[in-house]
Amino acid sequence: MRIILLGAPGSGKGTLAKKISRDFDIPQISTGDLFRAIVKEDSPLAEKVKSIMTSGGLVPDETTVELVKERISKPDCKKGFILDGFPRTIAQAEALEKISQIDSVVLVELANEIIIDRLSSRRTCPNCGEIYSVQDNPENACKKCLTPLIQRDDDKPETIKHRLEVYEANTSPLINFYSDRLFKVSSAGSPDQTYMPVKAFLEKLEAKGE
Ligand code: AMP
Repeated sequence: MRIILLGAPGSGKGTLAKKISRDFDIPQISTGDLFRAIVKEDSPLAEKVKSIMTSGGLVPDETTVELVKERISKPDCKKGFILDGFPRTIAQAEALEKISQIDSVVLVELANEIIIDRLSSRRTCPNCGEIYSVQDNPENACKKCLTPLIQRDDDKPETIKHRLEVYEANTSPLINFYSDRLFKVSSAGSPDQTYMPVKAFLEKLEAKGE
């Protein structure tokens, strides 16, 4: 099963991807996570990616497509994968068509006001990538690996607005691009409420053998 999670930054794609990955035993491929790992390296690419990410812009299509191409060629992707945060432009989607078949695209929908609220209070574990909100985790330590949580630079208010504009301009046209295989879900409720209809939909898809 090869699926894409589409939706604005902060709409809950990462949380949803983790649940799908656990239940359907397919890897979550988050280009944001892959870029955050690259930024930790000491290389000219790391410097370039870091400044783009901090500003809330997009890494060039060519670099991003290469990264995904390499990742989905790995053995753990044989049974399928969940793309989280890719594609983000029409050019990336067109390149992906040439690399792999995509069975379905889940569109995670959430109003911008709620996104801004959630992103501003989001805290991330720099070690294992687990996501929390300030309200749910006042201890500010990861419940899985006890690492102190951080606020991502691009989750600061001035960058959030720009990331939403970038989504509107570059990524939202993908809703039309994938209109033939789109499944829409609202993430206004709890993570489990969001996941329930997605799980039912994917079980049907799996039963069809896709
Ligand atoms: P995310 O964790 O998905 O919100 O991604 C964090 C940042 O990584 C984005 O704001 C972009 O700077 C970069 N990034 C992630 N995925 C892509 C992509 N598909 N194309 C270009 N840049 C990306």
